[in-house]
Amino acid sequence: MVSAPSTDNERSRNSQARSWHALDVSEVLKTLHADKDGLTRDEARRRLDEYGPNTLTEEDKPGPLRRFLSQFNNTLIYVLLVASAFTAFLGEWVDTGVILAVVVINALIGFIQEGKAEQAMESIRGMLSPKATVLRDGEERELPASELVPGDVVLLRSGDRVPADLRVITARNAQAEEAALTGESEPVGKEPHTVEEDASLGDRTNMAYSSTVITNGRLRGVVVATGSETEIGRISEMVSRVESLSTPLLSKVDAFGRVLSLAIVLLAAVVFALGYFLRDFTATEMFMVVVSLAVAAIPEGLPAIMTITLALGVQRMARRNAIVRRLPAVETLGSVTVICSDKTGTLTRNEMTVAKVATAGKFFSVGGVGYKPEGGFSLDGRDVPPEEQPRLIKLARAGLLCSDARLREENGEWSIEGAPTEGSVVVLARKAGLVRRNELDERPRLDEIPFESERRYMASLHREPDGGAVAYVKGAPERVLDMCASQRMEEGDEPLDREAWAKREAELADSGHRVLAIAAKHMDGGESLGEGQLDGLTLLGLVGIIDPPRQEAVEAIKECRQAGIRVKMITGDHVLTARSIGKSMGIGDGEHAVTGKDLELADEREIVRLVEGNDVFARASPEHKLRIMEALQSRGQVVAMTGDGVNDAPALKRADVGVAMGIKGSEATKEAADMVLADDNFATIERAVEEGRTIYDNLLKTILFILPTNGAEALMVIASVLLVFEVVPITPIQILWVNMITAVTLALALAFEPAEAGIMRRSPRPPDEPIISRFLVWRIAFVSVLIATSAILLFNRCLEADASIEAARTVAVNTLVAGQLFYLFNSRFLDRTSLSLKGLLGNGKALLAAGLLVVFQLVFTYLPLSHTLFGTRSLPAMEWTWIVAAGLAVFLFVEAEKVLIKRRR
Ligand code: ATP
Repeated sequence: MVSAPSTDNERSRNSQARSWHALDVSEVLKTLHADKDGLTRDEARRRLDEYGPNTLTEEDKPGPLRRFLSQFNNTLIYVLLVASAFTAFLGEWVDTGVILAVVVINALIGFIQEGKAEQAMESIRGMLSPKATVLRDGEERELPASELVPGDVVLLRSGDRVPADLRVITARNAQAEEAALTGESEPVGKEPHTVEEDASLGDRTNMAYSSTVITNGRLRGVVVATGSETEIGRISEMVSRVESLSTPLLSKVDAFGRVLSLAIVLLAAVVFALGYFLRDFTATEMFMVVVSLAVAAIPEGLPAIMTITLALGVQRMARRNAIVRRLPAVETLGSVTVICSDKTGTLTRNEMTVAKVATAGKFFSVGGVGYKPEGGFSLDGRDVPPEEQPRLIKLARAGLLCSDARLREENGEWSIEGAPTEGSVVVLARKAGLVRRNELDERPRLDEIPFESERRYMASLHREPDGGAVAYVKGAPERVLDMCASQRMEEGDEPLDREAWAKREAELADSGHRVLAIAAKHMDGGESLGEGQLDGLTLLGLVGIIDPPRQEAVEAIKECRQAGIRVKMITGDHVLTARSIGKSMGIGDGEHAVTGKDLELADEREIVRLVEGNDVFARASPEHKLRIMEALQSRGQVVAMTGDGVNDAPALKRADVGVAMGIKGSEATKEAADMVLADDNFATIERAVEEGRTIYDNLLKTILFILPTNGAEALMVIASVLLVFEVVPITPIQILWVNMITAVTLALALAFEPAEAGIMRRSPRPPDEPIISRFLVWRIAFVSVLIATSAILLFNRCLEADASIEAARTVAVNTLVAGQLFYLFNSRFLDRTSLSLKGLLGNGKALLAAGLLVVFQLVFTYLPLSHTLFGTRSLPAMEWTWIVAAGLAVFLFVEAEKVLIKRRR
């Protein structure tokens, strides 16, 4: 074990850290005892012990005490606190004690539930921890960025977030956006040359700093500082964006809570005046009534229940591979009217296989599927040994050398590391008998121009065995053909027959193939490759790649259509490929498609027309995505948009729900997104929409369920004052008992409510739909009156039968709770009937909660301690028949109301 670094050590490291940019690469590597091929795994482990993980200390989160205290910061609780002060003033100490106890218990419940919700969110955030590609034991590996140590060699490409402070070793067209560090939003070029010692951070072009983003090109750098030793770590020990657990709906409910408190206070004043002046109650009596009223009307448990409902829903989504990064997206998902999806990997499986190869005059079919390099070549149905086809071999070699993907075999399973398009070319080469390592040994790569979606081709430069150099290019045919002057024939080259190739490409694309053109050119020396040198190429041929649709995506597209959501496919592929694949998946009609170029040529009105009238968009770049979205949004559509490349970030930010790919997506895109798909699968978006709709439903159901309890209690208090009784049928303590007990047991069950059948047959919810709709107000009022009436009737019946006031109150409270219990089963469905086996037994949690509640009520009714605390009395068995009947009546009335409302609609 190596001892922890001494303070002196640390200091010297710090001072060195400031001047890495002034040292040349070899000095940097020497100082770090590192090698440009990276560290060994053992050394890395030793250094990890010494330096600690590459993470920043999280921002101070509020401690438990502060979180507990924050539970009291709520207008509704203030009203309760004032109520307890009133009772104390009147010398009603038991009431004071109970109200305070309830406030504290409520805070505790809130605290625990919020803690759970936070934990759920924390584990979801953990699913998004960044990764880095590192050289260990000379091999590229993908590791959690937290495991990086000084001396590690890291490989970065456009879209990657820099995981630690790096000194650049090599770079190719690399640019980084360093706004996080320097505030400069324009990307800066990165290259290995030494800079002045006193250069400012923004001018240290040979350094890539932690948490900045590579926006272009590739680079390789050695880690010089990790964790809090990095520049960003020095500036702030933070980065954990502690997101508050809220959504627009929850904030609206909060605001509603404030209005409600005000209304309650006003109502209390009115009731006080009426009771005092009209019905000759004493001021003291009326004070107690007003306290009861305030306590009755306040839905103390609501905020905590809403938070936990949201958190549980979000956790459920994460289990189904949709990781929500911004909570408001959960609600927006329910309103989505259009999903714009990438094709490759999202709608298709991204398991690419070259199925066709066209050289000048020959058209090969290739056997086999997937990455297993088994399968032969055939010409017109006749098998042909590849070694007898020199042009085929040349094309395969060019494709192999101009790719970065690697083929791996583990326990008979073949997989690729790198882009699947390139993987398919590497597999093709293996089928033709070519192995990457041997080919690279023979023709080492000198330079390259990496593939970028905007450029649509890749090129690499190689030393030839005879000492010359050759450039290989592969990419979208129309780009590559533009650079070609000739085509390779058996007996030398001849001028390019562009028309014939375009026809062949169209044939391949029309049958759903992704097409790549592969070309080569002998270069006159030089060890570097520039875009300007790529003209006069010789075309070697075309390859047609198949990428089968994801079956589950086809299903999901159907579901979306039924849910009133339109699916649009935006792809970088050829228009014919896009149309053909779109058609096979149920997107577009196979006839119409719009290209990126069409969008560029169109004016604003025309764009709207194109975008509304078409579902397939081909040869589209990230910039086109932005245009498509703006057009859709201008027509009031709510758009979910997927993306993976760094340049997709602006479109994702702009989308109503930005969706990033978890596997294929760059860090920058993930950060811009509202939601990340852990499996890159379109079907997951559809499931997320379903889950989003369910969460929203459950939040509504919670409101619909909890508020009538308060309504009924308030009505009981008001009725007793204004109408008939000499005594209030329910005391403040009893009210608090009911509120707490129903909120913790019954209401929580709704958080686990599964999606309603037919949830994906509804149209999207209008985004501006008010939460407190007329229906909601009606239902709350209706149920409040129902439950209050049944409780008052039974209370009255007891009094008339000469029972004690205490016993009558016990009956009233139990009737109230029974009403709630039965109403819970009504609330499971918003407007469908609950009168079915599924309605009654479908949610195990609801049954459990109901069982628990019965136990609570028995304790409340029969335990001697309850008699003293709550002023209850034991009831004869007969009373329970009435109570259960009253509950059942509430249930049936609400069911009847559902039927009537449905008819009226
Ligand atoms: P989608 O938008 O459907 O997800 P995509 O983003 O993968 O597709 P691009 O990667 O932009 O689409 O590819 C566009 C075109 O560029 C392809 O049709 C293909 O011809 C070419 N191409 C794709 N990958 C490579 C690569 N690695 N090297 C060379 N050319 C490529």
